Amino acid sequence: MNVAIAGAGIAGGYLAGLLEQRGISPDVYDGRDHATRCTCRSCGWGVPMAITTYLADVGLDLNDYLIEPMSPMDFDGLAAKTPLCTIDKPRLLRDFAGASGLKRQNLRPETAEDYDIVVDATGIRRALLPPCRSDLTLPTLQHRVTAESIGGERLGAGVSGNRIPGLGYLWIFPVGNDQYHIGIGGLNLIRQDRLLEQLYRDFSGRFSFTLHCSCHDTIRVASPHYSTPFFVRKTRMDGTPQLIIGVGESIGTVSPFTGEGIVHSLECARILADTWPNPEDYTRTVLVRFAWMKKERKTLDYLLSPEGRSGPRLQDRWRFFRSSRRPGIRLPMLEAFSRMGSLSRWLETPEI
Ligand SMILES: Cc1cc2nc3c(=O)[nH]c(=O)nc-3n(C[C@H](O)[C@H](O)[C@H](O)COP(=O)(O)OP(=O)(O)OC[C@H]3O[C@@H](n4cnc5c(N)ncnc54)[C@H](O)[C@@H]3O)c2cc1C
Repeated sequence: MNVAIAGAGIAGGYLAGLLEQRGISPDVYDGRDHATRCTCRSCGWGVPMAITTYLADVGLDLNDYLIEPMSPMDFDGLAAKTPLCTIDKPRLLRDFAGASGLKRQNLRPETAEDYDIVVDATGIRRALLPPCRSDLTLPTLQHRVTAESIGGERLGAGVSGNRIPGLGYLWIFPVGNDQYHIGIGGLNLIRQDRLLEQLYRDFSGRFSFTLHCSCHDTIRVASPHYSTPFFVRKTRMDGTPQLIIGVGESIGTVSPFTGEGIVHSLECARILADTWPNPEDYTRTVLVRFAWMKKERKTLDYLLSPEGRSGPRLQDRWRFFRSSRRPGIRLPMLEAFSRMGSLSRWLETPEI
């Protein structure tokens, strides 16, 4: 059976390693045509330490990729212990690709015809599957900066929703040598650059910032439930059947609230390998495993609707709180609940 994986990002690169272990040697394609300096798709590189078990499954060690633990972390002024860290994602992708013998070109439809099974691991592009049944994407802008301290204080890791007049958040993730990914993602935000400039101005008495690079991108926050179909069966020109099946962000395995997609895409790839090649079983398992993402998406839909203008309901606050607990962030519940009310502020200034 001929197998191709289109996309050597987190999901495709990891899947290739898992399939190799099961005696399947896929051809992996990726043109890597990203307009970024780090050579991979724009990303904060933040993960929970729980990534360890996924890496161990393909013989890799988190310590080889670990940049910095992110604990404590500031959440809109609330300091919390977290099991989060930043990793050298470009290096991890290189190691995935090195093991799979990457073909440095995108998989074109003509070439895809040669394969019995084609995996669409093309992330936001979803290049080979039909469109999601109800897509939702979040525009982002991320800078890589050096933050030089003026008074000896160190810039800590943090996320902030209060600085955003739209539905979204801003993140500050350390990536080593006093460098940071400072990014912003928001629905209904037009001038993200102004919000980042404002942040630099607000911090200017304490830090001096040097910009290294800047990239715009988009995250699929639709949830898997709204990103079906996960697979299609086709008949090729010669009359033989072909299966096209999606994995990772192409089928929406990203937290709609946080945009966190690395570990969830690894988990999705693991499910695909475990159910290989049974697309019905795979679909069922993915929908069950990521059912919580459907609830987060429902909250976003509500907040974006006219009814949502009065701000988050109790169930929405609960979902935000659960979302922070999932990767192991320990926010004090009552405090976190009351601050989530500030989400309603976005309604007062719907666009910037
Ligand atoms: C600004 C930003 C910040 C983020 N920060 C974080 C974070 O800190 N932590 C976190 O967990 N998640 C984060 N995410 C989300 C996370 O990066 C993604 O969800 C995750 O990388 C998805 O992995 P993937 O392999 O499914 O897709 P991708 O990583 O997007 O990989 C898809 C690959 O497919 C390739 N490709 C595209 N078309 C073709 C084709 N036709 N043929 C062959 N290859 C093709 C692309 O070149 C790419 O390498 C962030 C996203 C953005 C945009």
